[in-house]
Amino acid sequence: MTKIKSLKDTLKHQGLRNKLAKLLISKGITSKIVLDAIRTIPRHLFMDSSFEGHAYQDKAFPIGANQTISQPYTVAFQTELLALKPGHKILEIGTGSGYQTATLLALKATVYTIERQLELFKKTNIFFRKMSYRPKKVIFGDGYKGLPEEAPFDGIIVTAGAPEVPKALMSQLKVGGRLVIPVGTDDQIMTLYIRKSATEFEKKEFGSFRFVPLLEDKN
Ligand code: SAH
Repeated sequence: MTKIKSLKDTLKHQGLRNKLAKLLISKGITSKIVLDAIRTIPRHLFMDSSFEGHAYQDKAFPIGANQTISQPYTVAFQTELLALKPGHKILEIGTGSGYQTATLLALKATVYTIERQLELFKKTNIFFRKMSYRPKKVIFGDGYKGLPEEAPFDGIIVTAGAPEVPKALMSQLKVGGRLVIPVGTDDQIMTLYIRKSATEFEKKEFGSFRFVPLLEDKN
């Protein structure tokens, strides 16, 4: 049975988002444009309507196909680390529900996003169209390889836990570009690489997070 999902956004939702933004400020998020995106994007519409009550809690949540929509704090934190400017060309690995994608779009980035789960890829593509969210490209494929045909990028954001940093992603950054990637298996250290030159990267680490795994397609 197909359920027609209502795309309603109400004052009550808006109020819950304002509260969520306040909570994120108390947890250390400072970027005004990131907080504005949290206040604007109807996160409840990215989840199954029966879980709507959870949408504005600062929690990750199941979105089907064994995957999760990232916790709002994590989305805000990763987005802040990207230091986005309007028009930046950004590659996202792990489209999932599309919430992080919508956040990048709200900050006026040009977004390329890759998802390896066919079911989610299809579902989220339809949702983007319904909502008039317009990433430049939504790709079904393996994010480990990045997107060489569109490289280099101002920023690359990985929204699944990577056992190690894929070399392809490092090589697809512009000089001055930023790679934000949670690295580790059981839990992950949020890691920022800034490309300083063709061969040099600065690395910064930002504490522990928990993501679903970045899976590699071996074939
Ligand atoms: N950004 C998403 C987070 C989804 S969870 C959101 O805001 O909802 C991480 C996603 O990464 C999952 O959808 C998972 O299927 C996807 N993923 C895992 N390994 C991947 C890979 N190698 N390439 C592309 N996507 C991958």
